[in-house]
Amino acid sequence: MKKTPTSKPKLLPKMYCNIFGHEYQVTKKVTYHVKEYTCRHCKKELTTNSNGTLTELTPKFKEINAILERIHTTRMERLKRKSITSSIYSQLV
Ligand SMILES: [Zn+2]
Repeated sequence: MKKTPTSKPKLLPKMYCNIFGHEYQVTKKVTYHVKEYTCRHCKKELTTNSNGTLTELTPKFKEINAILERIHTTRMERLKRKSITSSIYSQLV
């Protein structure tokens, strides 16, 4: 007979999610519309896909999100610089 270890109940979080459902928290904001989520209990990761629905965060999606994040950051930086320039300009005029 095998002894079942009781110290680490590995199945418990998954069982919890099966019964009560996953409890996702936003772990990363990629863009305004795309976010990454992690379940508090089983650590399952989700992300928003191009259709705006949630899907499992696979390595492929992680890659896509990294690119999206870079584009988004670049765009935000450019916008910030632009608005600073225009506010200086409006002060001068
Ligand atoms: Zn879960």
